[in-house]
Amino acid sequence: MNIFYYDVAVSLPLRQCFTYSSELKIKKGTRVSIPFGNRLLVGVINKNIQKPQLLGKIGAIKEIISIMDAYPLFEKSIFNSILWASDYYHHPIGEVFNTFIPTQLRKINNNKIEPIEKISEYSINEEDKKFNLTKDQNKAVKELSKAKGFLPSLLYGVTGSGKTEVYLRLAEDCIRKNKAVLILVPEINLTPQLLSRFEDRFDGEIGLYHSRQTPSKRLKIWLKAKFGNIKIIIGTRSAVLMPLKDIGLIIIDEEHDQSFRQSEGFKFSARDLGIKRSQLQDIPIVLGSATPSLQSLKLVGEKKFKKVDILSRVDGRKPPKLIALDINNSPLIGGLAMETISVMQNVINKGEQVLVFINRRGFAPLYQCGSCGWVAECKSCDTNLVFHQSRNRLICHRCESAYAVNKCCPVCNEDEFHFHGAGTERVEEVLESSFPKTSIIRVDHDSTKKVGAMEAIVKKIHSSEAAILVGTQMLAKGHDFPKVTLSVILNADNGLISPEINALEKISQLLIQVSGRAGRNNNLAKVIIQTRYPDDINLNKIKTGNYMNFAKQCLDNNMKMNLPPYSTLCLLRSSSPTQKSNLDFLEKAVLTLSNRRGINIIGPLPSLISKSKGNYRHHIYIQSSKKTFLNKVLKFLTVEFDKWPESKKVKWAFDIDPIDIN
Ligand code: ADP
Ligand code: ZN
Ligand code: ZN
Repeated sequence: MNIFYYDVAVSLPLRQCFTYSSELKIKKGTRVSIPFGNRLLVGVINKNIQKPQLLGKIGAIKEIISIMDAYPLFEKSIFNSILWASDYYHHPIGEVFNTFIPTQLRKINNNKIEPIEKISEYSINEEDKKFNLTKDQNKAVKELSKAKGFLPSLLYGVTGSGKTEVYLRLAEDCIRKNKAVLILVPEINLTPQLLSRFEDRFDGEIGLYHSRQTPSKRLKIWLKAKFGNIKIIIGTRSAVLMPLKDIGLIIIDEEHDQSFRQSEGFKFSARDLGIKRSQLQDIPIVLGSATPSLQSLKLVGEKKFKKVDILSRVDGRKPPKLIALDINNSPLIGGLAMETISVMQNVINKGEQVLVFINRRGFAPLYQCGSCGWVAECKSCDTNLVFHQSRNRLICHRCESAYAVNKCCPVCNEDEFHFHGAGTERVEEVLESSFPKTSIIRVDHDSTKKVGAMEAIVKKIHSSEAAILVGTQMLAKGHDFPKVTLSVILNADNGLISPEINALEKISQLLIQVSGRAGRNNNLAKVIIQTRYPDDINLNKIKTGNYMNFAKQCLDNNMKMNLPPYSTLCLLRSSSPTQKSNLDFLEKAVLTLSNRRGINIIGPLPSLISKSKGNYRHHIYIQSSKKTFLNKVLKFLTVEFDKWPESKKVKWAFDIDPIDIN
């Protein structure tokens, strides 16, 4: 009798696979149930092995108990994308698998991987094509649909240039060829509007896939995609490895967006993983943006990406003018300068809409005793509590703990408190009193939490005449609000002077994106940037509205300084209940690497949020000009850490291509 041996990935935070045996031949990527310690777990067949090391040691190799499905989870190239991700991000293989397996398939239960419905027909609703493509759109569609096999294309389309219509035409092409399409967007809130555009264009089910759906809904969509019932999926980053049958194209909209990066647990970029997937599947990928990432622009420069431009808006209108408003001598009311309010009044009088962007939710970010200066802080994080008026609570934006609002000061017992700074709620309140007759629509994490809330808000925005929209990032991204003719940006300064990684890239993208929400219907549209640094060199360059110029300059700068994307960066992060444990561990890591050539190390340093959920947080930077070299160093470190007592006292993680030092 033949016995086969398999490397099995187990859904536990372990970096290795385990050897199991079976009398059956099992395909890679198949779910099996295995004994693990005294538990029964789901494992995934990673590979077949000829001669296991443990062979001959009694009891060392256990038997696979059962094969759970008749089909593997993933076909070969998605499977290999997972292996690639585990290797590239140095993350435990089982957890990487879990990220892309629907929750309901991660445990032993009755769910099976099998077709659930007969294949239904897909067709294109020709009646939906109300308008003719603009010249630029037409050219872009032609260029992009030429792509065969692996070819990443950057679709650089200014805001309002009609990128969505280009995506629709490319998707039509795929459907005609009976191929499937995957479209990724950075935020759940962007899915409803895209979904409705696709539903209008196609007859046949369009699948949504994101983390706010129930596990059973997610499983259903996943199975339908896998077996060909659904040919178009719109999803957020967790959908990047959706096993679509006969996939012909991947589209990543707003490719520059930081939300494609997962920063908790398995830290990966869905954009980068999407590119890897398209390479392994040998299919084209389109990355769309009005503010492309430096990374993409570098690859265009190296001819590794093709670039396709849409430089004019669909209506031929000019992008709005950006104006820096010096607020050094202006008293602010809830973050707004008087001059700003009066410009807003003019716009409202004309029956148009204003968008106010402030990158902070809640009422006030600082709640302070008027007598002794005590400030409300989170007990488990190094953060100030934000006062939320709507909930009448002080909330930590790091750990979401909610505290009762103090009646008297815990230090001096006085009962007079002050609010400092402004968040969306406070801006909303100020606007309600300044514009009592105008509808004020707040869009933030708190106002969009409920299912369907965002759809209702978007509807309200479209059906209102004069209105003021107040919101965070959520409002800045991708939306099409034709009645907005003025955008106001309240706290851009944080971004201009931030010590964060690639801060200038981020702030320029944000300013251009927010300004892109305005003036889709109007040549006189404006963007007011309230600032205390009106002479800032970078602000003045961004203000010209020419993102590409600014991005090129950032690239030149980063090249000179050997910063990403011209080098690779890894943060080795450590967190523990004591600072000493972090420092002991990180200092030992620095020492261990001290005589390695080809890498630069900075640190240990405290993270920007130096304490979170009760743990202190520190990191070191490890930088190298070569990715492969860095990879080797990190592999070496992983093995070393295993032997150290210092590593047992901390939780450590590699953060590859990090986007922040939070
Ligand atoms: P982008 O994503 O490039 O900022 P959108 O895709 O949101 O732009 O398109 C902006 C608006 O232009 C949408 O309302 C869309 O319906 C409209 N639109 C797209 N293409 C055309 C066209 N060829 N002619 C007229 N309007 C168009
Ligand atoms: Zn006090
Ligand atoms: Zn907290």
